[in-house]
Parts: sequence; structure tokens; C-alpha cells
Amino acid sequence: MSNAPIKLSRKPQPAEPAARTPKGARTACIRTFGCQMNVHDSDRMRRMILDAGYAEVHSYEEADLVILNTCYVRENAVDRVRGHLGELNRLRREGRVKKVALAGCIGASDESSELQRRYNIDLVLGTHNTYELAEFVGLPTMEETYTPELPGTEGEHSEFVTIMTGCNYQCSYCIVPTVRGRMVCRPMESVLEEVERLVESGTGYVTLLGQTVDAWRHDGKRFCDLLQRVADKAPRVWFTTSHPSNMEDRTLRLIGEKETIVKRLHLPVQSGSDRMLKLMHRGYKSERYRRKIEVFREAVPDGTLSTDIIVGHPGETEEDHERTVELVEDCGFDSAYVFKFSPRKGTEAAELDGTVPEGVVQRRFLEVLRAVEQNAFARNQRKVGSLEEIYIRHGSTEDGKAIGETWSGHAVHVKTDAKPGEYVRARIGSAGPHVLYAGETAL
Ligand code: SF4
Repeated sequence: MSNAPIKLSRKPQPAEPAARTPKGARTACIRTFGCQMNVHDSDRMRRMILDAGYAEVHSYEEADLVILNTCYVRENAVDRVRGHLGELNRLRREGRVKKVALAGCIGASDESSELQRRYNIDLVLGTHNTYELAEFVGLPTMEETYTPELPGTEGEHSEFVTIMTGCNYQCSYCIVPTVRGRMVCRPMESVLEEVERLVESGTGYVTLLGQTVDAWRHDGKRFCDLLQRVADKAPRVWFTTSHPSNMEDRTLRLIGEKETIVKRLHLPVQSGSDRMLKLMHRGYKSERYRRKIEVFREAVPDGTLSTDIIVGHPGETEEDHERTVELVEDCGFDSAYVFKFSPRKGTEAAELDGTVPEGVVQRRFLEVLRAVEQNAFARNQRKVGSLEEIYIRHGSTEDGKAIGETWSGHAVHVKTDAKPGEYVRARIGSAGPHVLYAGETAL
């Protein structure tokens, strides 16, 4: 039984290699913080700067224009951005960087005016007016008001397609509804046209994107209908992020039935305690969440399940914490993003009494993490020995290891020279709590 990965023929056209920076060309550097929505918005902005004749560079020192696409969800994210802005001011004084633009959620927040004054920022963009960058870089003014219609990057192996923006929930700890506004869903035909265009230009992997992607609805159609249509057109499809209150059983079954959908569900639970879920305004009880997981496990036995958990939300007692650990053990997540609560100015939770002491938060954080990892490790062990078709997401590094994804949604380190967007077949040699190892890289 050989562990050597075999390259499969099912592959999209590889993307063109990036052009070298032409001498004398204007240069721009985009730095992205935060979630996949921001990654996608950065792709749009990248398209604009390239259309405007800028060459993309990856360090501030080489850039005429620096665009910081920011996240406002966590306090330390803001601090990080302040650090970058300070550094950019220094480079500007030395005559290296010429212009700075601040985009994303901090750009849409109340703090943007103070930051603009303090750090001499040339352009501030929120999350709904990314198109204004076009005029700033010398392209004709775009009259778009609906950002998902803006051009994304095409011809790459893997693309995000935004199907909705904003959020109609009001979770106690979250600033997103304030900075991104209420939910706006993109018409189905518009999404399908973009998917078709991407697939024609060689995209092999489409991720449908939105803050509560499963809340999508338009013209009597619901998310499941859209997912089915997209999965008919694209060779590989995933979606994120979902909300338990919107997740329909038929969507969960579709994941199992449709071969082009990656068998991976990210369904944030945040807490296992009904009392905390109420305080957080999540809109469901833990029982509903557990039922959804049961349906998923039954419909997609080999699928992977991930979640988000907040530890130390104000008012969280030891008993609430125990309910969370129980839920983690019962649901058997394959991975989880566990966050220590951090208060965001402008959110309800920032004003709540019942702050949990730092040491307690740290202990609870480690306990939740341990529960997740024990289970993830045990589940990953079951994959050892299986032969998997692996989609390469990141090409091999100097030591020849590439990072890929199985159809079940597991991350795999595999020794191969295959390029991003190509498929290889390899046997899983070993597994850790976070990743599988295949082929000659097996530990
Ligand atoms: S569902 Fe809650 S956590 Fe998610 S974006 Fe909306 S308000 Fe924020």
C-alpha cells in the first residue's frame, strides 16, 4: 500500500503567474485583518487597484498606497491596526509610503474619524462603500451601492462569492450589525451568473459567503434552493457562516446528497447554556442546536463539524461553563474557534455587569479547548489509513508540503508538487488534533 500521492486529472486551469512589478509602476499593498468577508472585500479592492494600473506588492516599504482592510470585532484587532497605522506614519515621514486608506469594519465605526485625524489617513471606507476606492485610484466613478455586485477576482482556483451582507440578529457581544447594517440578500440570478463566470474562467472551488449565509432568501427562494443551484454549476462548493436558527434540515441533507458540496459544516453555538444563549440573544436553545447536529451527523456521517464558542461572557457562571463543556463533548466537534470574551464598545455586552475574572476565563478557555481537541484527535485518528481525494489549497512550500482539503472537510498536509486548485489522491498516514498527514509527509 503506497502512501505516495497520485495527481488526479480533475483540475481547473491554473491561474496565470503574477506579473513582476514593472519599473516605475505605482504600487499598492493590501493588508487584511479579520474574517473571510474581509478577505473577499480585499479581493475586490485588489481588482480595482490592478485595473487602475497599480502593481501589488507585499511590504509597506515598497508601496505607494497602503490599504488596511480592518476588523472591529475584537478589541486587540483595533490595537493591532493602530500599531500598523503608527508604522505607516513613520514610513510616510521618510517619504516611502505616499497614501494610506483605511477600509473595513473600523472604517465603518465611530472610531474612524479619530483615527483619520490622528494618523493622517487619506481615505476612509466603510463596508458598504468599498466602490469609492475606484475613484480614489483613478478609475471612473462606480455608482454601485450594493457591494456584492463589484468585481471580484476571477481566474483564481478558489473564490468567495458574497450572497448576502449585514445581519438581522443583535447578539449581545457583536458589533457586526452596527457596522455592516441589516441583511441584504443578493438575487439568485446574480449569484448564479457570477458562479458561472468564475467556473468558466477556471475557478474550481466556490465558497458562498455571508454573516448568516443560511438566512439568505430572495423571491420566495431559500438558502437550500440557492445552494442546490450553485452546487449544480460549480465543481466544489462550501458556505460560511451559518446561524443555528436558520439552518434547515433539508440544507443539512443536501450537504450529504450533493457530491460537489464539501461535507463540512461550520455552525457557531457560542455557549451550551440556555441562560447564556438568552443573555447573548442568540435566538435558540442548546436543544435545538443539538438536534441540528444529530441531523447533520445522520445525513453526513463522514462530515466535519466546527463551531465558535465564547468563554467568559459577562454573567457566565461555573454551571454555564459546565453546560458548554458538556455540549462540546456531546456534539463531538472536529474543530472549534474558542474565544475569550472581549468587550466591544457599542455592544450591549460591554455594558453588562458580571465580568468574569481573567484567571477564571483562562481556565475555562483551556477546559473548552481541551474538550474540543480530545474529540478532534479521536475523530481524526479514524481517518488514518483511508485513501482520500485531496483538493490542494496552498501549494507546496520549500520542504514540499502542500495544504489540502478532503471532501469530508479535513485539512491535510501532503507531500506533492501539485498546484493550488489541483486534486491529488493520497493515503492518510497519521493524524493530529488539527490536521491529517498524507503521503511521504506522514509522521
Ligand atoms: S449572528 Fe450574531 S454574531 Fe453573527 S454577525 Fe449577526 S449579530 Fe454578529
